[in-house]
Amino acid sequence: MTRIAVIGAGFGGIAVAHLLRRAGFGDVTVYERGDDVGGVWRDNTYPGCACDIPAPLYSYSFALNPDWSQRFPPHDEILGYLRRCTDAFGLRPQLRLGTAVDSAQWTGTAWRLTLAGGTCAEYDVIVAATGQLSRPVVPRIPGAGAFTGIVAHTARWPADLDVTGKSIGVIGTGASAIQLVPALADRAARITVFQRSAPWTLPKPNRRYGRVRRALNRRVPPLMRAARAGTLLLTWVTGRAVTGRPIARRFVRAVSAGQRYVQAGRLRPHVTPDYAMGCKRVLFTSGWYRALRRSNVTLSTADIRQLTAATVLTADGAEHHCDVLVYATGFAATEFLIPMAVTGRDGRRLEDEWKDGAYAHLGITVPGFPNLFLMYGPNTNTGNTSVVYFLEAQARYIVQAVRAVAESGPLEVREDVAAAFDAEMQRRLAGSVWTGCTNWYRTATGRIVTNWPGMASEYRARTARLTPSDFVRP
Ligand code: NAP
Repeated sequence: MTRIAVIGAGFGGIAVAHLLRRAGFGDVTVYERGDDVGGVWRDNTYPGCACDIPAPLYSYSFALNPDWSQRFPPHDEILGYLRRCTDAFGLRPQLRLGTAVDSAQWTGTAWRLTLAGGTCAEYDVIVAATGQLSRPVVPRIPGAGAFTGIVAHTARWPADLDVTGKSIGVIGTGASAIQLVPALADRAARITVFQRSAPWTLPKPNRRYGRVRRALNRRVPPLMRAARAGTLLLTWVTGRAVTGRPIARRFVRAVSAGQRYVQAGRLRPHVTPDYAMGCKRVLFTSGWYRALRRSNVTLSTADIRQLTAATVLTADGAEHHCDVLVYATGFAATEFLIPMAVTGRDGRRLEDEWKDGAYAHLGITVPGFPNLFLMYGPNTNTGNTSVVYFLEAQARYIVQAVRAVAESGPLEVREDVAAAFDAEMQRRLAGSVWTGCTNWYRTATGRIVTNWPGMASEYRARTARLTPSDFVRP
C-alpha cells in the first residue's frame, strides 16, 4: 500500500487527504504542527477577520456549504466549515495534531520524515500543504526591544487581549489591517494607523444570507452550484478588468476613486494610492475610510523611525502613545516550506535549489525531489479569485501522480520540463502589474515567486491531466 504523508491541515491538506482517500489510498497521515485543523483560519483570529472572496467560491466544490451566514463570512465560520469537512471526510483518525515535521529526506526509495522530538517515519509520497501565508513577519524597527506595551501580530492575536479604553498602534494597511481597524474602533480609546502605502480598495458588497436561502440551499443543492458558477464568472470578469483591457481597468479605477471620494473626505489625498492598481492586492472594504475618519482614529503617513517604551516616533517628529502595538505586516510568503529542511535525490537541498527564488512545475513538482508534491506552491497564488479553486486543481493532479507512483514506482519531474515552465512563468510575470511596487509576491531580487500569471481557468486546464512524459523514474 502506498504510504502518504500530508504536511499541513489547512484548506490544501484537508482537500488532498480527502481526495486521496476517496481515490482508494487508505494509508494517509496528516501532520499538523498546530493543535487544530484550519491553517490560516485557525491562526488568524484578530477582530474583524473575514474572507474577502465570496463564500460560494471559498469552499470545496465537493463539499458546498449551505449554511454560510453571509457572502463574506467571518473567520470562525470558515474554521467551523473546515472542522466539519474534517469530520465528514472521516479524516480525524488520520490527523497527527501538534506534530511539526522538522525535516524530510529522500532515501532513494522513500521519504524519511523527522518529527519534532526526533521520531522518524517513512512514506512513499509526501505532500507539502504548508501554505504561503503561515509565517508572520515583524519588521525590525529601532528600539523595538524598549517597547513595554502589549505587542501582537494580526496572525497571532492574543485571545485575552481587551482593547477597551486602550491606545492602539496598527502598523500596516493591507488586507488584515483594513479588517482589523474598523472592528477595533468602537472599543479602543485611540487608534493610530501607520500607513506606508495606501491600498487600492473597492466597495465590499457583503450581504446576509437569510434562513430561506439557507433552507433552499439545503433542499435544492443545484442553487449552490449555480451561485458558485456565478461567483467564478464574476471573479473572472473582475480579474480581467484589473489585468486586461485599459477601458475595463479605467472603470474599476473609477469605482475605487469614487469610493474614496464618497467615503474618505479630507483624508482623500493621504489614502490615494501612488502605484498601479492590482500591484498589491485590491482590498474589498465598506468600513475602512469611515473608521479612519473617526475622531478617535489618526492616520499617520510619516515613516516610523523608532519605538520607545510607550511611543512610536515618526519621521515628522510626532510621538504616538500606544498601550498596544499591532503588527499587521504580513507574512514571509516567498520562503516556501521553511523551516522544514527537505533533502532530495543525491543530497540536493530544496533551500539550495530555491536560493534564487522558489520554482516548481505547475507549482507542484520540483526536479531532484521524487514523490514530493506541493500544494499552494510557487506561482500558484491568485490575486482575483479563490485559492481554494487552485488547491482543488492541485489535489486532483496529485491524486493522478500518486496513482502513477502506485502503479510504476517513484516519479520525478524532468529538469527541462520544470525549467521551461519556470521560464514561461517569469517571462509572463515580467510584464505583469505586480512588478511595479513592493509587495509580498516578490523576493528581495524582484523575482515573482508566489503568483500565477494567468486566469484560474488556465491553471485548472493545465493541471487537469498529468502528462506522463513530463516525468522520469528516478
Ligand atoms: P500584507 O498585505 O503584506 O500587508 C502588510 C502591510 O504592512 C502593508 O501595508 C505594508 O506596507 C505594511 N508594512 C510592512 N512593513 C512595514 C514597516 N516596516 N513599516 C510600515 N508598514 C509596514 O499583509 P496582510 O494584510 O496580513 O495580508 C497578507 C495577505 O493575506 C493578503 O494579501 C491576503 O492574500 C491574505 N489575507 C486575506 C484575507 C481574506 O480576507 N481572505 C484577510 C487578510 C489577509 P507596504 O504595502 O508599503 O509594504
